[in-house]
Order: sequence, then C-alpha cells, then structure tokens
Amino acid sequence: MKKSDCEDYRKKLFIDMDGVLLDYIPVIIEMYEEDFGFEIMAYNHRKITPWQIQTWGFEELELAPKGYIYHLFKSQRFFDKVKFFDGCVEFLKGLNYLGWKINIVTNGHPINLALKQEFIDKHIPFCDLMGVNMNKFSDKSHIDMSGENSIFIDDLAKNLEDCKCKNKIMFGVKKPWNESWKGDWVRNYKELEEYFEKRGFM
Ligand SMILES: [Mg+2]
Repeated sequence: MKKSDCEDYRKKLFIDMDGVLLDYIPVIIEMYEEDFGFEIMAYNHRKITPWQIQTWGFEELELAPKGYIYHLFKSQRFFDKVKFFDGCVEFLKGLNYLGWKINIVTNGHPINLALKQEFIDKHIPFCDLMGVNMNKFSDKSHIDMSGENSIFIDDLAKNLEDCKCKNKIMFGVKKPWNESWKGDWVRNYKELEEYFEKRGFM
C-alpha cells in the first residue's frame, strides 16, 4: 500500500473552533458587560443571555460600537476567558488515543489565528490548526477533506453546505445561521459521542 493510500484510510476529523470547541457566546457577553456595565445600568438595558443572541454579528449588544466584537476576538483577554464546551477535551483525547488525525479548521484574521495556535498548543497540543485567513477565503471549501473516513463538524450551515467532505455534522443549538442545515445534527458532546458510537466511528 502506498503512503497516500494509508493517509486516505486514516480517520480524520476536521472540526471548527468557535462555536464547536469553544463556547464563545457567553464570553463575548461577559466582556461586553465588563466594558459597558455602567452604560447598561444608566440606560436601563436588559441583560442579554446567550440564547437571546440570534445574529452572527452580536447586534443584540446594542451599546457595542462598530468593530468592537471583531476587536474582542483578537484579544488575549478572550482566550484567557473562553471555555471548551463540556466533554469536548475528553472527546478529542479519546479520538487522539484511537489514532485519529484531528484538524481544527477555523476562520480568523491573522492575529486571531496566532492566538488560536497558542491556545491549542497550551490546551490540546495533539491537534493541528488549519487556520483559514478570512482576508483571503470566505468559507472552508478549499480545504481538502477527501477520504472515506473524514468527518467535518461545524456550526455554520454555509460551511457544511459548501464543502465536499463525505461525513458532515452540524453542532449546537438552533440559531438563524444553522437552521437551513438538513443533514446530521448533534447539540452537545454527549450526543456527538453517541453519534460516533452508533455509526462505528469509535
Ligand atoms: Mg464556528
């Protein structure tokens, strides 16, 4: 068997970072409240909860000036606060133990991607980062996810729809940016683990 054939049979996970590995919405709200707490009180604004966020650009955070959210994603502060979804690290460790190649396919601007690399090196060093520079690409369709045993997990319908991976899974609770997805869907890591077991992936 040629080396390229071996690579084709190796089980490969392509997994998104924001919204799939990282539960980022609560952290964005937390930082917004830290920065605009005084104004929120003064103008009697409602407290926003993660499930009330229904726009990709956090338009519900009314006091945030243009570019504020974008700036947060490029800050060390975000990466110091953000948490993995429950069960995520254990799930990845399990796949790594079973010999899977784990690729984290994530969009970002260069500073955000550099901070993501540091975060991965610190917390899940057995995973590889495939950073997608948002200045150059609008989706992830250029990434080679071929192979019978490749699986792609994302929380944005467009990313899943546009890519040619054989096995595609939507992750997370229903939001306007994922509701058009018609394929397989898990809401959390417990369901993802059950999905993998049921289909014989692990
Ligand atoms: Mg995402």
